[in-house]
Amino acid sequence: MRVYELARDLGVDSKEVVAHATELGLEVKTASSGLSDEAAELLRLAIAPETSTEAVTEDEADTAPTAAEVEEAPVESEAEPVAVTPDEPEVEVEIASLVEGATVSDFADAVAQPVGEVVMALLGKGIPAGAGQTMPSETIDEIAEGFGYIIEIEAAPEAPVVADVPEFDDDEADLVTRPPVVTVMGHVDHGKTTLLDTIRQANVVDDEQGGITQHIGAYQVEVHGHPITFIDTPGHEAFTALRARGANITDIVILVVAADDAVMPQTIEAISHSKAAGVKMIVAINKMDLPGADPLRVRTELTNYDVITEDLGGDVPSVEVSALAGEGVEELLEVVDLIAQLEEFKGNPKPEASGVVVEAQIERGRGPMASVIIQRGTLKQGDAFVAGPVSGRVRALLNDQGDQVKNAGPSAPVQIMGWDEVPAAGDFFEVRKNDREARKIAAARLEEAKAVSNVAPSAKDRLQGLLEQLRSDDAMLNIIVKADAQGSLEALRESIGKIEREGGKIRIVHTAVGGINEHDVTLAEVTESVIVGFNVRPEPKARKAAEVAGIEIRTYGIIYELLDEIELLLVGQLAPDEEEQVLGTAEVRATFKVPRMGTVAGCYVIEGVVQRGAKARLLRDGIIIHDGTIASLRRFKDDVREVASGFECGMGFEDYHDLKDGDHIEVYVINEVART
Ligand code: GDP
Repeated sequence: MRVYELARDLGVDSKEVVAHATELGLEVKTASSGLSDEAAELLRLAIAPETSTEAVTEDEADTAPTAAEVEEAPVESEAEPVAVTPDEPEVEVEIASLVEGATVSDFADAVAQPVGEVVMALLGKGIPAGAGQTMPSETIDEIAEGFGYIIEIEAAPEAPVVADVPEFDDDEADLVTRPPVVTVMGHVDHGKTTLLDTIRQANVVDDEQGGITQHIGAYQVEVHGHPITFIDTPGHEAFTALRARGANITDIVILVVAADDAVMPQTIEAISHSKAAGVKMIVAINKMDLPGADPLRVRTELTNYDVITEDLGGDVPSVEVSALAGEGVEELLEVVDLIAQLEEFKGNPKPEASGVVVEAQIERGRGPMASVIIQRGTLKQGDAFVAGPVSGRVRALLNDQGDQVKNAGPSAPVQIMGWDEVPAAGDFFEVRKNDREARKIAAARLEEAKAVSNVAPSAKDRLQGLLEQLRSDDAMLNIIVKADAQGSLEALRESIGKIEREGGKIRIVHTAVGGINEHDVTLAEVTESVIVGFNVRPEPKARKAAEVAGIEIRTYGIIYELLDEIELLLVGQLAPDEEEQVLGTAEVRATFKVPRMGTVAGCYVIEGVVQRGAKARLLRDGIIIHDGTIASLRRFKDDVREVASGFECGMGFEDYHDLKDGDHIEVYVINEVART
C-alpha cells in the first residue's frame, strides 16, 4: 500500500501521513512511498485509531472496500506489478485535476503523456477510444496511477447564465394551447441536419397550391393533426445566441447522439444548455442502421451527465432512430407530441404580436426578409413593428411553404415582408401602435448601438515569464480560448489553427463561450496554457486565482489584434507596452432613470475601489456589453471621486444606459510600460 492510498482511506492529506510516519521513524518520504502492512497499521493507529480494526491487513481491506474506494480506486490497482515494498525506488506522485467529461486528450495533458500512450493504456483494458472521446470515468484513477498521477475530478463548468427572458403577464382565461417549439442539438456529425430534413420531408402538410418548401429558419409539421414547430438551425450555437439575447423560444430539445459514437463535448454542452434553460429533453439515438450502433452505451454514458433515460429508470424519453433511413422518426415525433400534450404549452393569441427573429436576409426582388417565431399575440398584414434597431410594416406574411397567409399566432414560424432593413437573428420582435412609434424606437436603438461600437476595448496583461521561456526553446504554446459567441469562437479556432512557425506550435486546449471562470484558470494551470478572451472578461474570482497561480489572461475586442499577438507570442517577441490594472468591481443592485443623466445604477462595490472618470466595462455574465467611462459617481446625494469596497454608490456610464440588475462594472486604468 502507498502513502496516498492510506491517506485516502483515512480521509487525510498525504503530507499528514508522511509527517506521522517520520515521527514514528519510518522510511517514508513522499505520497507514493510504499508501506508494509505493519507500517500501514501503525499509521492507522496513530492517525485514526477508530478505523484501524476495519482494515487489519490489506487483503481484508480489499474484500470489504468502502463505497468511496469502490468509486475511486479500482480494486485491480493492487495487482499492479509495481506493488509496494518499502525499498522500492521512490516515484513522485503528482496530483492533477480534470474537468468532468474531459476527453482522452485532456487526460493525456493532465498526466503529461502523449495521447498515444493513453490510447494504448485504454486498449490494454479493452476500451478502444480516440483522442477526442470522453475519457471513460471508470478507468481514470487506474490509468492515471500508472503514469504516477492522482486525478481530482472537477464538476463540469456551468453553462453561462443568461439575460432575462421577456415575461408576459397574461390572463389565464386568454391562454390557448399552442404548438411546442423544438430545437435539435447534439455533437457535430451526429445527424442533426439529416434528422431535421427527414422530419420535414416526411411530414410536409400537402396543400392544393403545391407550395415549394422554403427554408425560413423554422418549419411546422403535423402529428395526429397537432402542429409542431421545429427550429431549422440545429445545434446549441443558435440556441445559446438566442438565449443570450433573452429569447427563450424553445420548449423541447431533441438531443441527437450517434449510436456508433459516444457522448461528445458538444453533447455535454447541449445537455448543460438544455438544463440551464429548463426545457424538456428527448434523446434521439441516431444512426441505428450502422453495424457499430450501441444504444445501451449511449444511454449508460448519458447517466454520467444526469440524463437518465426512461429505460434506465429515469424520466428522459429516448428513441432509437436512423435519420438517414427515416426509421424511428415517426415514433420520435409521437413522443414530442405526447410531451406537448402533457406539458400543455400555452400562449395568448389576443394581444399585438411579439416574438423572436430566427433568420433574416435580403432577397432579390423582395428586399429584406426575416422570419419570426411568434410567441404571443397574432400578427396581421399592415401591422407596424420593430425588432432591435429595425422597423417595418407587414406587407405580406409567408409560411414555410412559401404560401401567403393572413395571420400568424403563437408558435407559428412566419416570414415577414416589409422590413426597412435586415434585422439580426435573435432580436426580439414586437408590433407597435403605428409606424411612427416603431420608427422612433428603432432610431433610438440604432443610436445606442453606434455608441457601443465606437468603443475599442483593449487589454494587455503581463507576459514576461512566458516570453522568456518561449524565447529560449522550441515553443509549444497552449491556449484556452473563451469568447462571447460560438460564431467568434469558430472563427478564432480556425484562424489560430493556421498560425505556425518553425519549431513552434499552438495547441488549443479548450474553447468555450462565456466569461473566463475559475475552471479555465485551473485548466490553464494543469495544461500550462495562456487564456485568451475575445469580448469576455475574467470573473473576479478567476482573476485572483490567475494572479495566485501566475496564469496569463489576455483579453481582446478585435480579432486581428488577438491573432497578431498570439503570433508574436509564439515567436517570443511580444512585450506588453501597456498594462491594465483593474481597480475594482461593483455589482449593479438596482437601476434608476434620472432626468438628463439617463440610467444610473445603484451599485455595491464588491472589491477594490471605483473612481469617477475611470475606464469601466459593463459585464453581463462575464461578457463585455459595453466599454466606456464612469461619468457619475455618487454616495447618497453627493458627487464623490472614489468609493471603496463594501460601500454602496450610484454609478452612471458616459453615453450608455442599458444597465441591468446583476451586471458587474469592472473599473480599470491603463498604465504605460516601457518596452523591453
Ligand atoms: P450534423 O452535423 O449533426 O448536422 O450531422 P449531419 O446530419 O450533417 O450528418 C453527418 C453525417 O452522418 C452525414 O454524412 C449523414 O449522412 C450521416 N448520417 C446522419 N444520420 C445518419 C443515420 O441515421 N445513419 C447513417 N448511417 N448515417 C447518418
